[in-house]
Amino acid sequence: MRIGFIGLGNMGGPMARNLLKAGHELTVFDLSETAVAAAVKAGASKANSVAELASGDRELIITMLPAAQHVKGVYLGDNGLLASVAAGVHLIDSSTIDPMSAREVAKAAAEHGNPMLDAPVSGGTGGAEAGTLTFMVGGEPDEFEFARPVLETMGKNIVHCGPAGNGQVAKVANNMLLGISMIGAAEAMSLGVSLGMDPKVLAGVINTSSGRCWSTDTYNPYPGVIDGVPSSRGYTGGFGTDLMIKDLGLATEAAKSVRQPVVMGALAQQLYQGMSFEGHGDLDFSAIIKRYSSDQE
Ligand code: NAD
Repeated sequence: MRIGFIGLGNMGGPMARNLLKAGHELTVFDLSETAVAAAVKAGASKANSVAELASGDRELIITMLPAAQHVKGVYLGDNGLLASVAAGVHLIDSSTIDPMSAREVAKAAAEHGNPMLDAPVSGGTGGAEAGTLTFMVGGEPDEFEFARPVLETMGKNIVHCGPAGNGQVAKVANNMLLGISMIGAAEAMSLGVSLGMDPKVLAGVINTSSGRCWSTDTYNPYPGVIDGVPSSRGYTGGFGTDLMIKDLGLATEAAKSVRQPVVMGALAQQLYQGMSFEGHGDLDFSAIIKRYSSDQE
């Protein structure tokens, strides 16, 4: 397929490489010359602007941008995608943004004659490299079926979540729960250790009992409990606290739009924000456990 790709960052770069590996003809654009050069080296052609990419002969255009303001700028701006693209070209936005903005952009695309999906991902940069991402997809069922084979070259689980915006709904709900459950895991592990338990024994009990969750059995925040996770390498790599704050902000904003209380989500957001305020926003979010112990600096 002739595909355009905009946004070649930590996630978009490897996703674009997987599309090239699968044999698609790729044209790319990014504000970063370095990111474009890397994609060109991997076999992509380069466009000099969003408008140039959009006005070319593409069947599908995928975007992977930092946040809603970038997505709105790229799609709805004066020299943006919708101002230049032909009706009928398929559009997929894989950025993580709030569901309301995703619906606004999808509506504008539909009015222009372009079917659009929101398809945010989970799986991080490792999943993007390995082509094992989960795609949570919102949009029309026919459009989902059209996009599925392309998404399968970049991901392993491709899930249709309902109409436009619902991919983002699934993403914010999951990540809000992750943010909350990590704090619960940190609190329980710290309490047990403070009261005299060995952290590995405690994790073993929790992981065969009713407190078990991903934050305890796969990504335990207590150092040394699980090899190879951020807590066992000084909380480097992994999922940065500032990215978790972004996702919790999306959840609390989306909750406001339906007047739904998200008490735990908002509390989690404030706790991670405190950590970032103190200069630790680049550490993995499981470093929230440092709030509970004095001996883990
Ligand atoms: P990133 O900042 O590494 O990459 C974003 C890219 O978009 C950059 O290369 C930037 O130059 C480019 N860009 C920004 N504005 C542009 C514009 N107007 N035109 C063209 N290019 C533009 O971000 P990332 O880590 O790749 O994340 C992308 C999205 O995926 C975000 O919404 C993020 O929340 C989400 N996400 C990230 C991860 C992760 O682990 N990094 C995991 C899941 C989801």
